[in-house]
Amino acid sequence: MDFINYETDNKVAVITLDRPEKSNAQHAPMLRELDSAWDTAAADDDIRVIVVRANGKHFSAGHDLSDEGKHWWSQEVDIQNKGLEAVYQWERTHYLGFTRKWRDIPKPSIAAVQGACIAGGLMLAWPCDLIIAADDAKFSDPVARMAIGGVEYHGHTWELGARKAKELLFTGRYLGAEEAEKLGMVNRVVSRDSLDSETMQLAHEIAEMHPFGLAAAKRAVNQTLDIMGFYASLQSVFDIHATGHGNALSVTGGKATILSNLQEMKSGAKHV
Ligand code: ZN
Repeated sequence: MDFINYETDNKVAVITLDRPEKSNAQHAPMLRELDSAWDTAAADDDIRVIVVRANGKHFSAGHDLSDEGKHWWSQEVDIQNKGLEAVYQWERTHYLGFTRKWRDIPKPSIAAVQGACIAGGLMLAWPCDLIIAADDAKFSDPVARMAIGGVEYHGHTWELGARKAKELLFTGRYLGAEEAEKLGMVNRVVSRDSLDSETMQLAHEIAEMHPFGLAAAKRAVNQTLDIMGFYASLQSVFDIHATGHGNALSVTGGKATILSNLQEMKSGAKHV
């Protein structure tokens, strides 16, 4: 794999985002490698706990909006002929679909987050059962600036509560590690230097529990959230997200894509 490292350490699978020169921004090949790594960990009976961590200064800058990211997007999303349908189908698989699938894998998972975790970056951390944050970690979802109401996976309200979710989305500001811990989005905050060791210590501790007990405990919590409406709201808010792409397409005469974003939105619609 080119963008993801996969290692095992005594019952613990360690999945590492390894595109540090791009702040671990996600493009199509990286996402597919990441999904494959989750599959490998899920299928291995010797693996009890899955850790998702990142090389470099930042956990993830989100979806790759650079020319390279746009290249992959244009290869796979036929906007010219299919318009919003193409966007919807691709994002349903690669964004909502992947993240929801990782969330439901019946093994405990832990995200270790340092530096920036922006927009699509949240969609790599939120599906994990636990989040350990370095003291320099900061979280944001600024996509309202692109006239879209948040990333494809609406964890916001569930993770932060309604008012803080709105504040985050309305302002696009960063949420610091300590504030995230206070809100319950993060389990604990540790020093940057000890992020990996603290994460692995917790992973190994959990890995000694009975695997069926762990799966049952995870299922109990996730099922409770689903009964409260989490699963259904993910789908319906994904559809709200898609109206943002539809708006971008309409105001730019079919040229805008998710990656074309702010600049084109600004030139295409004065009210943005
Ligand atoms: Zn989108």
